[in-house]
Parts: sequence; structure tokens; C-alpha cells
Amino acid sequence: RVQLAVFTRDLRVADNPMLAQAATAERVVPLFVQDPAITGGRFSNPSRQHLLNAGLADLDHSLRGIGGALVVRRGDPITEIVRLAERVDAEAVHIAADVSSHAQHREQRLAAALAGHRRGLVVHEAVTTVQPAGSITPSGSDHFAVFTPYLRRWLQQPRRDPLPPPRAIRLPDGLPSGRVPSGQQARGWTGGETAARQRVEDWFTDGLDDYHDRHDDLAGDATSKLSPSLHFGFVSPLELVTRAQRHAGPGPEAFVRQLAWRDFHHQVLAARPQAAWQDYRPRGDHWIDDDAAFRAWQAGLTGYPLVDAGMRQLTKSGWMHNRARMIVASFLTKTLYLDWRLGAQHFLDQLVDGDLANNNLNWQWVAGTGNDTRPNRVLNPLRQAKRFDADADYVRRWLPELAAIDDPTMAHQPWLLPAADRRTLRYPEPIIDLTVGRDRFAHGRG
Ligand code: FAD
Repeated sequence: RVQLAVFTRDLRVADNPMLAQAATAERVVPLFVQDPAITGGRFSNPSRQHLLNAGLADLDHSLRGIGGALVVRRGDPITEIVRLAERVDAEAVHIAADVSSHAQHREQRLAAALAGHRRGLVVHEAVTTVQPAGSITPSGSDHFAVFTPYLRRWLQQPRRDPLPPPRAIRLPDGLPSGRVPSGQQARGWTGGETAARQRVEDWFTDGLDDYHDRHDDLAGDATSKLSPSLHFGFVSPLELVTRAQRHAGPGPEAFVRQLAWRDFHHQVLAARPQAAWQDYRPRGDHWIDDDAAFRAWQAGLTGYPLVDAGMRQLTKSGWMHNRARMIVASFLTKTLYLDWRLGAQHFLDQLVDGDLANNNLNWQWVAGTGNDTRPNRVLNPLRQAKRFDADADYVRRWLPELAAIDDPTMAHQPWLLPAADRRTLRYPEPIIDLTVGRDRFAHGRG
């Protein structure tokens, strides 16, 4: 009796219900299919590819420790899964549920293809999210459009307990082993469950308790940085929530709330897969076409230090602080009034944690075409600077041009410096007046 355990974005042995159940079979084949539609398309970038490869190498290592090994194939996942299922005469295939249109379509095609070969498909929920997408709904709709009532229900909904890794698995005899890619680092990030677990341990001993007070401090770097690991499933979100809830206090509570945001966006995308690239709630925007402004934004050369610091952090490290993501996204969509899709695609091209649900629905949230209940609010970078980078340390860290300016007000508003000092800075004047931007946004709609 053989079963296939097909890994997707759940590259871990701990708390993986998909693997746990497949492993109860007499023989199991752990499989990962590199899908060129994902790795070669607009959803991938070289850093995420490195992290994925490192994750596969680490998974293979862990599986070998319990008697298995990872089989890696490349091609259309349906063709590859069915081919292997035929070859080892698998009675069933296990896979985790996921939310994008690509994943939902893959699941439907797989179900049809396996049924044609009289082989079962078992789809596992609550693997990539804490609560299954679609399991929490308001009356009269298939998903929650507003976060707060969703959170209330999400916190009350019963959950399964985290699962330990399987003790042992047995491969079928004579299984050809696929070449597992070798693990690599990307821009200082390490992929894989083993590294993620270390990060989790550090976070629980040395970050969680202060999270509430410090998570919005741009220079403080006081967030978990678990986002790439959550994207690839190196760590289980359900396990994080279960563990965090054993600690009392505002820190753990705030952290759990952020993981609920992640589930929230996933359940929106599951119900509205087209919202990845289409306005969730169209407002009739007439976005502006301004390539020069877009390029200045990408390069971190808008002349607004806080915006530019965020964009430089993105280019240099493949990651950006959440507060900075909101500020640069608001600046692009509401001050420059450029289409949110441009920003979302640029983020996916750069981020190590690029994730369709989290990225594109957060972009829509900030642009005001998504799930924000106050869709027309505009973040003013100067006011944000006072609140979240009062000492200007974040700006000085990411903008070498401004590193020598001691006065925080001047570091955030270098245009206030005497003209002679300004000329030596090699930093641009603001590309737009904030009031002009705000008025244009107010009149551009409808
Ligand atoms: P922590 O503050 O430690 O939070 C823990 C986890 O909670 C995160 O790892 C993440 O999985 C989840 N989380 C936190 N904030 C959010 C949020 N607002 N929405 C959904 N989940 C959240 N997150 C991504 O994982 N991938 C993306 O591509 C992405 N793009 C974004 C684009 C924009 C415009 C904005 C405003 C936010 C985006 N986020 C994205 C959400 C958030 O910025 C990151 O998850 C967070 O900064 C990652 O850092 P961390 O792991 O240290 O977060």
C-alpha cells in the first residue's frame, strides 16, 4: 500500500497534517514538483528560488533522518504526480489546500486526473493557514470582507493540536531518487525548516514579549522576520499561534493578531482568486501614467527620506518593515496616484517573503480598493516619520546620503537645509508636493 505525500508550500516535517497522514501508510513517497508556471513566471524571483531550494534540501535531509527521502520532479505538477502515482501504484495522493487560483485549479485538475486512474486524492486543510480558508463565514457571504469581526470569530474557532514529525516512514523499494537542489542563502536569509525553527526559538525567548510595544518602531527591527518561512511553510502558522497563546500579555496577543491578518487575506483570496490582480472593490480610479515617477519610487529617489529608506531596504535586503510597506504603498497609490498593480508586481520581484495573498491584498488594502474600512485615508510620510522614526535612525541607516545629518527633522526634511548644504547631499528634491498629490487623489476618483 503506497501513498504519495505531495509538498507544496508546506516544506516541513513538524506539524504537517498532510505528511502525518500519508506517513501512516505502509509505504510513502514524499514528492515535490517544481512547476515552471510558478518558478518561471511573474510570481518568482531569484531570492525566493534560493530559499525554496534550501528548503527542499533541508526537507530531504529531515526525511532521510526518518527513513525517507524527497523525490523532486520538474514539469506540470498534474502530469508528474499522476506519472509517479502510476509507477509506484499509489492508492492515494495527499496535498495541502491552498488559496490562489493557480493552486485551486491545480487541485481540481489533480482530482479529475486521479479519478480517471482510480486513485484517491486527500486534500488537507489548516496546513498553510491556521484556520481553513472558507471555514469562517458571516451569514450571507462566503468570506469576511472586514477584519475585526473575522478576528473575533477566528479567535473563538476550535483548532487542532500541532502534530509532531512522523517517527518513521518507509519508501517503496527501487524508487528512483530525484535530484534535490542544493541549499543556498539569499541576501542574508536562510531557507528551510531547521533554520526557521531556530528563528522561532530565538523569537519566543527574545522578541515576542516586547512585540506590542516595538513592532511599529521602524529602526527597532523588532518583528519576527518569519514571513519568508511562513510563505514556504518552513514553519507552521498554527504551531506559532498555539505557542504564542501559552504566553500572556500584549506582545503575544499582538503577534497572534498579525497571524490572523495572514489568514484573513488568505480567506479573501480563496473566495475571490481574481482579487490578486483585479480591484476587490473598484472605486473608479483613473490612475496616472508616469514612468519617471514610478522609476524614482522603485529606486528610492522620491526625495521623501522615509519612503526612500523603505525602498532601499527592499532592494538591499529583499524585505521591508511592515510600517514602511504601508508608507511606500500609500505614497505610490495615493500621492503619486499610480496603479497599485505596478507596486505589487515590483514587490513580488524583490521580496524574499513575496506572497500573493499577503502582498496583493495588502496592496489593495493600502490603495483603498480592498478591505480597508477607511479606503481614502492617506499616510503622510512626514507625520509617519515623527511617530515611527522620531530619531531618524531608519532613514540614516538606509540612505547613506543622509547618514551624516544629526538633526532628525532635517534628516526627514532635507529640503529645509540651507541651499549650499543641500547641494552637497546628492539627494533629490521631492518629486511631488504632498498637497498636490492629496488633491489629485481626491479628484481622480469616480
Ligand atoms: P511580524 O510582524 O513578526 O508578523 C508575524 C507574521 O504575521 C508575518 O510573518 C506575516 O506572516 C503575518 N503578518 C504580519 N503582518 C501582516 C499583514 N499586514 N498582512 C498579512 N500577514 C501579516 N507579507 C508577506 O508575508 N508577504 C508579502 O508579500 C507581503 N507584502 C506586503 C505588501 C504591503 C503593501 C504591505 C502593507 C504588507 C505586506 N505584507 C506581506 C505584510 C507584512 O508587511 C509582512 O508580513 C511583515 O512585514 C513580515 O515581517 P515579519 O515576519 O517580521 O512580521
